[in-house]
Amino acid sequence: MSEPDVIVAGGGISGLSAAWWLAQAGCSVEVWEQDARLGGKIATRQTDGYLTERAASVMLNFRSEVSRLLAASGLDAAKIPSAPQRKRYLVRGGRLIPVPMRFGPLVRSPLWSVGAKLRLLAEPLLPRGGHVDETVSAFVVRRLGREVLETAMEPFIAGPLGSDPDQASAHAVLPQLVALEQRYGSIVIGAGVRRILRRGTSPVRESFSFDGGMVTLVRALAATANIRFRTGTTLRHIEPARSGWGLAGETPAGGLTARARQLVLSVPAPAAAALLRPLDADLAQLLHGIEYAALTVVHLAFDRSAVRNRLDGMGFLVPRSEGLPLTGCQWMSSTFAARAPRGKVLLSCYVGGARAPQARDWTDARCIDATLGVLDPLLGITAAPERVWIDRHASGLPLYHGAYASRVRALAERLRHWPGLHLAANYAGGVSVRERIVCGHALAGRIHASLAQSRPPAPITGLAASTVPAVSGGLG
Ligand SMILES: Cc1cc2nc3c(=O)[nH]c(=O)nc-3n(C[C@H](O)[C@H](O)[C@H](O)COP(=O)(O)OP(=O)(O)OC[C@H]3O[C@@H](n4cnc5c(N)ncnc54)[C@H](O)[C@@H]3O)c2cc1C
Repeated sequence: MSEPDVIVAGGGISGLSAAWWLAQAGCSVEVWEQDARLGGKIATRQTDGYLTERAASVMLNFRSEVSRLLAASGLDAAKIPSAPQRKRYLVRGGRLIPVPMRFGPLVRSPLWSVGAKLRLLAEPLLPRGGHVDETVSAFVVRRLGREVLETAMEPFIAGPLGSDPDQASAHAVLPQLVALEQRYGSIVIGAGVRRILRRGTSPVRESFSFDGGMVTLVRALAATANIRFRTGTTLRHIEPARSGWGLAGETPAGGLTARARQLVLSVPAPAAAALLRPLDADLAQLLHGIEYAALTVVHLAFDRSAVRNRLDGMGFLVPRSEGLPLTGCQWMSSTFAARAPRGKVLLSCYVGGARAPQARDWTDARCIDATLGVLDPLLGITAAPERVWIDRHASGLPLYHGAYASRVRALAERLRHWPGLHLAANYAGGVSVRERIVCGHALAGRIHASLAQSRPPAPITGLAASTVPAVSGGLG
């Protein structure tokens, strides 16, 4: 029976990054993953010169923890930056309008009315308000006005997060904007002050993928020395044991038991709920109540001559007011080099999410028709796609809906009853790969500190001592 310091159940990016940081801190770590491969949602497909991503396709980074992990795992050289022209478009009145990224173009942009622009300028004069379970819509309308919600914020919440701003928690989905209001009384002023204070100290904002796609990140983490990876191993049962946790799992070769001083559940919320139900019905119920959105990604390849649009950006997002069945489309072959053969283009389109739950039941043919129905007029498509790939996620993204901040607080509260047990997956702390790496770092700090209380700590290599937070079990 193995007895590592920490067992991490779930080999998606949440579990892999937590394990990586733990290994850097000198802990002995095992990762149990039920699938035959690591990576969870992240998977890259390469066919005939095309490269498509099943889930995450791009990393947007501005966090030093991510920069450190990439540098230490040899991934800096494998980074493929997104194309310098980072234009993004929004659909407005059936046309593509560039999203202004700077103040001058923002003032001139046809995306917003004069009234909406004046409302933005008045934001610093508004009093503080809100409450812990305020929705994104209520927060944005209160601070920035309804037009900014509908044209700018809603498509970013519905697209990359698959979520609905009328139900999503502002504290969970827009923690940085909420913090700016709380601290400075204004988002606009707070953002300006932050920019000045952080000048030269935070890493440059960059968006990138990797040579070979996102699976390159997974492979690099999976090559970490000092971590034992057990793929094809499903965690079935957990129970508190003397100074740690007892685990029982299932492998193709039979049952497996193990003991670990600390246990990290990096599995989706329903799987964590099933494991915890026999121990703590309240904790299981809190996890069980987390909703997930179904998402379908439709990848289409065309001959370049079949698309009239210049495709001079990263793609477009669709506000709900347009009434279209897509939340967005990424122009993969414009964003990254080597995503399609020469003379071809690759577009990845997103169908479903909280905005269109009915799309979960659509056939492949219906998904393709719906996608082409949007693309044809917007991009000037003149011929049928040459290749199509479809990736379906029945539980694509956790929705931070309802009183989510209260739910997360209640989860952390319940976890105090179970020392050495931690939850670390994309239903808390953010869904992006960047946020998963940052959460993994913080969690590893807490676990390392906790282990060090009972024995002299190993030398810390990857975790700066000053960034190790105080000991607590809980949510990572
Ligand atoms: C369509 C789509 C597009 C996205 N695009 C982006 C993007 O461009 N950029 C970005 O930053 N993010 C993106 N994301 C988000 C990001 O990909 C996910 O949030 C992230 O990959 C989830 O990682 P995770 O480890 O939390 O969960 P998962 O990847 O779901 O990993 C959980 C793992 O737990 C395993 N497991 C479950 N039960 C057990 C058990 N009992 N025992 C052992 N193992 C178990 C599962 O097999 C799985 O491997 C996207 C997501 C989707 C769906």
